Amino acid sequence: MKIMKFGGTSVGKPERMHQVKDLITRDKQKKIVVLSALSGTTNALVGIGEALAEANKELAKERIDSLHSHYLQFYKELLKTEAARSKAEKIIKEHFEFLNIILKISFNEAINRDILAQGELLSTKLFFTLLQELDIPAVFLPALDFMSIDENSEPELKKIAEKVKVILANYPEDQIFITQGYICKNHRNEVDNLKRGGSDYSASLIGAAVSADVVEIWTDIDGMHNNDPRVVDKTRPIAQLSFDEAAELAYFGAKILHPASIWPAQQYNIPVKLLNTMEPDAPGTTITAKEIGSGVKALAAKDGITAIKIKSSRMLLAYGFLRKVFEVFEKYKTSIDMITTSEVAVSVTIDDLSHLDEIVKELEIYGMVEVDKNQTIISVVGNMIAESKGTLAKIMSSISDYPIRMVSYGGSRHNVSLLLDAKYKNEALKSMNEGLFEW
Ligand code: ADP
Ligand code: ASP
Ligand code: MG
Repeated sequence: MKIMKFGGTSVGKPERMHQVKDLITRDKQKKIVVLSALSGTTNALVGIGEALAEANKELAKERIDSLHSHYLQFYKELLKTEAARSKAEKIIKEHFEFLNIILKISFNEAINRDILAQGELLSTKLFFTLLQELDIPAVFLPALDFMSIDENSEPELKKIAEKVKVILANYPEDQIFITQGYICKNHRNEVDNLKRGGSDYSASLIGAAVSADVVEIWTDIDGMHNNDPRVVDKTRPIAQLSFDEAAELAYFGAKILHPASIWPAQQYNIPVKLLNTMEPDAPGTTITAKEIGSGVKALAAKDGITAIKIKSSRMLLAYGFLRKVFEVFEKYKTSIDMITTSEVAVSVTIDDLSHLDEIVKELEIYGMVEVDKNQTIISVVGNMIAESKGTLAKIMSSISDYPIRMVSYGGSRHNVSLLLDAKYKNEALKSMNEGLFEW
């Protein structure tokens, strides 16, 4: 069994969906195909939810209508036969009727998550209709029947695995299974999701659940590049990465992978491949447990970071102090990315600001608290960075023109993290690219 996940751009145009159909029928292996929403759809749904949250029904209606007309165009180009087209019309009608009904009822967060789920429901149903039109045998697996998260929004992998196995046992002869990425049920049995970009995470969780041979993430670029291609021109794909390296890159901002998407594959030692739907024979990136090569492999940047410094006049690191500081973050379920300490101060970074005010208030019991918003973490990832001679000097000289607010080095063998003001991010990434890769 293999998992093939196709992202938004890979299903975003009718001709791309046809390409996906070609890719999933190239071999006879059993496969679960995980689809994202058509590119732009989830953003549009977020926009509809935002308009409703502001009670701006007119704007919400405008946004629903504009998305609706996109789908009415899409299915006509996707499908040829009358029978398939009339199925697609029904599907689209059903989902847009749902969105229009929401306009009439009172809005809340659970309804918002229902809205966000429409994209993956639509893309999978339309793709399944295409397969039916072409007489390609396939089974439709609704993700809401097996994907679930607990009260901490963590995927319930054991439950997911049990459910998927029971469902698959009904189809011993079938080869192609189609399901939605991103969407799931929560502990209240409401529709929920795995956060933006979550289809990668779905694919990896399903891969772990069925002990797949490989999880293939098909996207619009030929693998993990050594720097952010949206910012830096001269980037190149990396052929091989270890799970640890890929996880660090994903966590620290490489958008090609959802931040949490590596651990399920790593836990069950399932190779993950990053492949390009538009260039299917390009080698892409293979991610396995193997540690290959040494030195710096790639850079990634994570935006929206806030630095919090707690400064005390007394010796701060008296035992028990850090525990008290960390307990404040634990209490508010806010995870810390970077930490640095000196004798009198400790600085940490967070990206979830939902409880910032409460956290600052409680930390003020222990000392003076300073908060710097709009920071970026640039993460330098590679194999044994901390042990290789001269690497740190090279990294620092590649970024010497920019003020660095924090440095985290030696915490893992794979990562050096630098914190700087977000306004320097793009220039810093370019400068580091030159210093580290372009020679
Ligand atoms: P999908 O819709 O297929 O999930 P995403 O847009 O989520 O695709 O991810 C692919 C995009 O990630 C690429 O088009 C690229 O712009 C961006 N990206 C950011 N950093 C990297 C990186 N280090 N390597 C490759 N792509 C990256
Ligand atoms: N459609 C969702 C999003 O845009 C999930 C995904 O594409 O991975 O975030
Ligand atoms: Mg993505």
